[in-house]
Amino acid sequence: MNRYLHMKTKLLALIIFFTCFNFVHSTTILTDPPREKFVVVLDAGHGGQDPGNRGNGYYEKDIALNIVLSIGAELEKLPDVKVIYTRKSDVFVTLAGRAEIANKAEADLFISVHCNAHKSQAQGTETFVLGLHRNQDNLEVAMRENQVIFLEEDYEVTYDGFNPNSPESYIGLTLMQEEFLDQSVLLADLIQKNFTHDLKRVNRGVKQAGFLVLRQTYMPSVLVETGFLTNTGEGSYLNSRSGQSGMPQAITKAVLDYKKSINLEILEGLDRNPPVALTAEPQEQPLDIYDGITFRVQLAATGKKIEPNPKNFRGLREVSRNKEGKLFKYYYGATSSYSQIKELHEIARRSGYPDSYIVAFRGNEKISVNDALKTKMK
Ligand SMILES: [Zn+2]
Repeated sequence: MNRYLHMKTKLLALIIFFTCFNFVHSTTILTDPPREKFVVVLDAGHGGQDPGNRGNGYYEKDIALNIVLSIGAELEKLPDVKVIYTRKSDVFVTLAGRAEIANKAEADLFISVHCNAHKSQAQGTETFVLGLHRNQDNLEVAMRENQVIFLEEDYEVTYDGFNPNSPESYIGLTLMQEEFLDQSVLLADLIQKNFTHDLKRVNRGVKQAGFLVLRQTYMPSVLVETGFLTNTGEGSYLNSRSGQSGMPQAITKAVLDYKKSINLEILEGLDRNPPVALTAEPQEQPLDIYDGITFRVQLAATGKKIEPNPKNFRGLREVSRNKEGKLFKYYYGATSSYSQIKELHEIARRSGYPDSYIVAFRGNEKISVNDALKTKMK
């Protein structure tokens, strides 16, 4: 009898345990849906029959792959990041094939890693976003990296008659990447900053040129030139253990900073920082009006749809929301005056958006601030 009671108690305990367990379990599922992963596509330049440049006898394809594998190994440790490689070994992948891998994965970022070459002892790191080159040097880097399509059988068809050696081919190349330009520049800036500050590399800056591998991706995309193999010191650094651990660390850190900035810190910051009272709206009527141009301050970009009211944006009024590609972008202010937008930018920075930046629109088309400033003043 006693034994029977004991069993009954045990059974009851078990039932309670499982009921609770199920309850907790199902609640967890209901309130905490799996978070969408941040997808990064890592593209080691060249591979297989394409060695890349052979400055000082080094192999660009091997160095690029080592750097990419190290970045991937770090990022893969994070539960909310998914890493996809265009190649993990010494194989040939076409430029179009690389972009296709990234598009299929609906990646959040595409990062192509390369090493530079020059007939001089030029040195330094540079990160490219797709765009029209501003000078011959930038065009030459793109021309060299695009040469690889000659190794592809149907390159004329695949790339619509694009000729890597003809400057005319580079005009009109940039269209598809345009909507991601500011995000690409943001990442490129972070990468260059880390190369310069953390690794003390020579900074050649963020640049634009017509890289075919960036042309067909539908996400923020950059091409990193980690340094010149042709430079004696830089070549040996990139081929060394310290180079191949330093470069990946700097790039990984930039990816994480980028991810943080687009994950919108607005919501996190709400409880900690009550909205700042913003009475300092510009008073004076400025004179530098650019006809047909609207400047805005980009506060954030995120997959999340948030009401653009002051409560959600640290007290900032006049915040607008715009769906661009996969992201919602949040802008502060709208003015044709450059000096006014600079003041608004300062207000945004002081209100808790230190990474905000100015963007420019001509009608609905986003253009670079530089191009906007080249248009005629009223
Ligand atoms: Zn390359």
